[in-house]
Amino acid sequence: MPADRLLPTTEAEDLLALTRELAREELAPLAAEYEEAERFPREQFRLLGKSGLLGLPYPERWGGGDVPYEVYLQVLEEIASAWMSVGVGLSVHTMSCFALAHHGTEAQRERWLPAMLGGDLLGAYALSESHAGSDAAALSTRARREGDAYLVTGAKAWITHGGQADFYTTMVRTSDDGGTGISCLLVDRDTPGLSAAPPERKMGLTASTTTQLLFDNARVDADRLLGEEGAGLRIALESLNSGRLGIAACSVGLAQAALDEAVAYAKQRTQFGSPIIEFQGVEFLLADMAAAVESARATYLEAARRRDRGLPFQRQASIAKLVATDAAMKVTTDAVQVLGGAGYTRDFPVERYMREAKVPQIFEGTNQIQRLVIARALRTA
Ligand SMILES: Cc1cc2nc3c(=O)[nH]c(=O)nc-3n(C[C@H](O)[C@H](O)[C@H](O)COP(=O)(O)OP(=O)(O)OC[C@H]3O[C@@H](n4cnc5c(N)ncnc54)[C@H](O)[C@@H]3O)c2cc1C
Repeated sequence: MPADRLLPTTEAEDLLALTRELAREELAPLAAEYEEAERFPREQFRLLGKSGLLGLPYPERWGGGDVPYEVYLQVLEEIASAWMSVGVGLSVHTMSCFALAHHGTEAQRERWLPAMLGGDLLGAYALSESHAGSDAAALSTRARREGDAYLVTGAKAWITHGGQADFYTTMVRTSDDGGTGISCLLVDRDTPGLSAAPPERKMGLTASTTTQLLFDNARVDADRLLGEEGAGLRIALESLNSGRLGIAACSVGLAQAALDEAVAYAKQRTQFGSPIIEFQGVEFLLADMAAAVESARATYLEAARRRDRGLPFQRQASIAKLVATDAAMKVTTDAVQVLGGAGYTRDFPVERYMREAKVPQIFEGTNQIQRLVIARALRTA
């Protein structure tokens, strides 16, 4: 059942209608096959680009869609509902454009942003390292200035779109000053000395490639520094505030898909002479799932509306990410329960949804880290 949305304008309604059609016709039919084959959906990202969906929340003058976050996130939710790996990929791409769009110089934006937002290129965001996950400030990939370039050496871990992306928004260490010794470079995929390790073998999101990125004296032109030297961690965390809203929206989309499957199954499956949806034990489970989906959606929309109005939204973004990803884990698990034995097989998508729901509780700051952000805001309020 399509989510019942209150959209701010008729243009937004049209955009959502177009997205739903694209998701239903072009994405949903391929999801199970690509996930099973661990095949990266590069063509589908090109299609999103051609449809103008790869730069939605950025200004039109650089090829973006100029839509409010409130609308962009609902587009993302619809895409994730059809295919979570593509939704997460769109969210990561959008986040990878943040540093240039918000911290690049005018000349840098003119030069690179239209291609990044306009459709054919795909981005990645490279912060984590094997020893620096939750503690991102401990990262050690080193960029040493030599003339008009940085020579970068080290390894980034867990990079979504590793080896597939056209550009990598990469946080590197330019001095030993802890969190203020980190800088942000826009690294081109063809940079000499840059390579990707073989993809990680994951529990879910298997069509979304995740790899280590290896820098071996990789030469990055100094004019690819975004923001000041030393501003990289601040830029990375700012990007994550917005990115977490994307992960929240994707998780709501996934939970909605699981709820829809569960309701459809419960209406047609009979036991003891009745459709199982008529048993209170099942219908209350479905009611709780619907309540979790709608309250998580309301939570991310509230944070997005604050962002759209220029209000602080960091705490609300962490709450949205925590609430929505926990909701998706619970709702997808309950969907498997509603389908009984069938839910545990690959004949139905709910077992995949359940596997896909786990990682949003981990990436872009684990849910423990979201609690730290929320608790810190309470302490300092
Ligand atoms: C599929 C996938 C895709 C990813 N994509 C990207 C990407 O595109 N770009 C990128 O930069 N990174 C990416 N990541 C990395 C991701 O953001 C990290 O995995 C995450 O931040 C956690 O880091 P970690 O795995 O090192 O866990 P750790 O930091 O080692 O945490 C282990 C456990 O300890 C807990 N913990 C740690 N510190 C604290 C604390 N202070 N208080 C309480 N609990 C704590 C954590 O919550 C967790 O439960 C991805 C990860 C995965 C799995």
